[in-house]
Amino acid sequence: MRKDSVQPELDSQLITDSQLYRYSRQIIIPEINEEGQELLLNSKVAIIGAGGLGCPVALYLGGAGVGEITIVDDDIIDISNLNRQIAFKTNSVGSSKSKNLKFAIQDLNPEVIVNAINERLTSENLDKLFQNQDLIIDCTDNYETRLIIAKGCCKYKIPMSFGSAVRQEGQTAFFQAKTKKHINSEIKNSYPCYICVFPTAPEDGIVSRCSETGILGPITGLIASIQSLNVIRYLTNQDVSRNLILWDGLTFFEIKTKKMEKCEVCS
Ligand SMILES: [Zn+2]
Repeated sequence: MRKDSVQPELDSQLITDSQLYRYSRQIIIPEINEEGQELLLNSKVAIIGAGGLGCPVALYLGGAGVGEITIVDDDIIDISNLNRQIAFKTNSVGSSKSKNLKFAIQDLNPEVIVNAINERLTSENLDKLFQNQDLIIDCTDNYETRLIIAKGCCKYKIPMSFGSAVRQEGQTAFFQAKTKKHINSEIKNSYPCYICVFPTAPEDGIVSRCSETGILGPITGLIASIQSLNVIRYLTNQDVSRNLILWDGLTFFEIKTKKMEKCEVCS
């Protein structure tokens, strides 16, 4: 029987022999190595939204051995979610997304500490959810919540991985405005935040709800994969592109991002 067991505290940990084998296919990558794996094992991230983006992001990061993952979502699973929310099963319809995603991560990798928060992110619970995180992964489907995430990330000086997908299109970017890492670098100070790039809600339909515009499962998988890769690269001290990356259904293209003068959030 599955139960919410008491989980160990995430102490700074060195890699064990069994972990060396579990993560061997990524540890062998020179840029990851044992040191990178230890960084992952000692990292804490929050995924906001346990939907089409949040499911694959959670599974990839759990599989990679990110030490502690917090999932924030107050929604329940609907059968129409299952074309893309690949961590859920038909017999879970009607139950909590955050809790079921926690179970899916723990089935994959019982070593990961997972916190399922059955709440919607608001300005009120932001402090509780963001403090002590190394970064936040935006897997939401609306501009209002992204504004809260962007402000929270600047407040706590942590990056925001942004992702958005509708129909057969998607976009993603990794925002590092005001992050603590390399804070003295001049380059660092030129990084934009989400609001620099999206000061107003986009009107091209990219923010429309999936229920209104439709969504293909692989498109959320594609964007979530880039988000997951960027998160792993950042946590293992590798470069992450600062460009907005877009997929239009046929091909990728990139848009350079830049800091907005007098941005009310990150300047
Ligand atoms: Zn800004």
